[in-house]
Amino acid sequence: MDIKSYIRDIPDFPKQGILFKDITPLLSDAEAFKASIALLLELIGDIKVDKVIGMESRGFIFGPVLAENLNAGFVPVRKPGKLPSSIYSESFDLEYGTDSLEIHLDAIKKGDKVLIHDDVIATGGTASAACNLVERLGGEVVQMNFLIELEFLHGRDKLKGYETKSLLKY
Ligand code: AMP
Repeated sequence: MDIKSYIRDIPDFPKQGILFKDITPLLSDAEAFKASIALLLELIGDIKVDKVIGMESRGFIFGPVLAENLNAGFVPVRKPGKLPSSIYSESFDLEYGTDSLEIHLDAIKKGDKVLIHDDVIATGGTASAACNLVERLGGEVVQMNFLIELEFLHGRDKLKGYETKSLLKY
């Protein structure tokens, strides 16, 4: 199945000059959604995973599905002010703006094997901030996992030393 044919390019969203990769056509097609989950799981293989981290908000779509299939827990990494308990926070630069991400202090235990998932890796700032949060809590990042990689932005360069996998490259 040609998964790329279900990804829609939206020019100048959310800002002038950004070519936004819209995954909603993929999500709304039962067969394509199922196939993309199976392919993401193939990228993961049989590595042991205790926790899957998903970044707000599109990391919340595939992240929990992957976690369920891997018999792992799911941990949301959220935008500021959304998590109700004690948190760590990391700031980072985005392809469009700056932001910060937060994680609950009790979400990861020391030594937990963690897979970090997001729909898109662009400049890598989001993923690198998520790595820092996991490591501050004593977790071990075993894979960085993305549906889409925008290779021309070289986000991978911010994730040197981490196993980084993506399904669709542009
Ligand atoms: P970055 O931190 O630059 O790697 O940006 C990754 C985050 O921004 C991910 O959470 C993506 O969902 C979102 N993102 C960045 N660029 C795009 C794009 N061109 N299309 C869709 N989502 C994007």
